[in-house]
Amino acid sequence: MTAPRRLAGVDELIDKAVAGQPAAIARLITLVENGAPAVRRIAAALVPRAGRAQVIGLTGPPGVGKSTSTSALVARLRLAGRRVGVLAVDPSSALSGGALLGDRVRMTEHGVDEGVFIRSMASRGHLGGLAAAVPQALRVLDAAGFDVILLETVGVGQAEFEVSSLADTTVLLLAPGLGDGIQAAKAGILEMADVFVINKADRDGAEQAARDLRHLRTLVAESPGQWRRPILKTVATRGEGVDEVLAAIADHHEWLSTTGALAGGRRARAAVEIEAIALGAVRQRFAAVRGSAALGESAARMAEGAVDPFTAADDLVTALGV
Ligand code: GDP
Repeated sequence: MTAPRRLAGVDELIDKAVAGQPAAIARLITLVENGAPAVRRIAAALVPRAGRAQVIGLTGPPGVGKSTSTSALVARLRLAGRRVGVLAVDPSSALSGGALLGDRVRMTEHGVDEGVFIRSMASRGHLGGLAAAVPQALRVLDAAGFDVILLETVGVGQAEFEVSSLADTTVLLLAPGLGDGIQAAKAGILEMADVFVINKADRDGAEQAARDLRHLRTLVAESPGQWRRPILKTVATRGEGVDEVLAAIADHHEWLSTTGALAGGRRARAAVEIEAIALGAVRQRFAAVRGSAALGESAARMAEGAVDPFTAADDLVTALGV
């Protein structure tokens, strides 16, 4: 009897989250983050209610001003009457005091506002878990009725971009004097950003950073009809240039919609999510086979020269029924 009761609890939680109750939203995100058994039920309930939110990725090296920019963006979006969810993801570390501090700093400004929900997620040691959890957490916020979700990720490496590629529009934040950051942002990484922002434009070297970036941009393939990535400057601490960033994001969203890239991108992300879950299921089934008598028998036959590894592997895959 305990199982149905527990599931009924999940259904209630889903209803409350969809109604926008912060405590229920937080609890659902914790469940998907921990890979709880209810994840399947949660996804099934939320998928038909999601797909409305605009997801904006914000990424860049530590210290570049992501938290400050997120806060400034949230303030502008709230002025425009939009409900905003913020998911701050740190793929490089387990949940740190820094992430929690970031939450607190932002909470002081937006914490009492019911139209804003802020949450940190860390890798807890393995990126695989995070890669599976972030799309689900985004879906919770989407189904909870947030118009915009800001997905903030630390760093400019491949892993960070895997997370930020879950966004419709990705903003890459750089700052003057962080030349290393720009160097790290190699052509492949630059290609994945849709809007470039040089923050801390009140500091020396902002124009040089913009020039460096303009040069790097020429190295990124752009065919006719493609989106031309703008390079903007901001002073996030004073809110300067933030409206221009939002305008560029809106332009990009418009471009995505008119070219069909919005739907295409979402389909591609759905495929990645399905594939990851399917591979996880196969891996789980395989774990049950590992050390089994059938595998032991194949291994023995191969060691005796009676079967080649490809044929033995084919037999194993057939036995798994996938
Ligand atoms: P994050 O690590 O990328 O999230 O960076 P933060 O938002 O925490 O900012 C790091 C530091 O840079 C903080 O001390 C901010 O006050 C400061 N900062 C952020 N934006 C600006 C800016 O536009 N100009 C200047 N001078 N400092 C800024």
